[in-house]
Amino acid sequence: MAYEITDKCIKCGKCEFVCPEDAIKRGWTGYRIDPDLCDSCGGCTYVCPVKAIEPD
Ligand code: SF4
Ligand code: SF4
Repeated sequence: MAYEITDKCIKCGKCEFVCPEDAIKRGWTGYRIDPDLCDSCGGCTYVCPVKAIEPD
């Protein structure tokens, strides 16, 4: 299981800096979580101001 960034994301970038696995990357279409790197710690969900990150 991994976490996923939904279309509620406002691209603030906060989550990118808290991920201990460096799984969150900014791409051409917005932020996404690499499911191969995410260990589902849930840390990113606490910093997201719009609750855009959910368990996949
Ligand atoms: S759940 Fe944890 S490991 Fe997965 S993207 Fe969020 S902070 Fe990174
Ligand atoms: S913290 Fe939330 S709103 Fe900000 S970039 Fe990450 S998913 Fe998007």
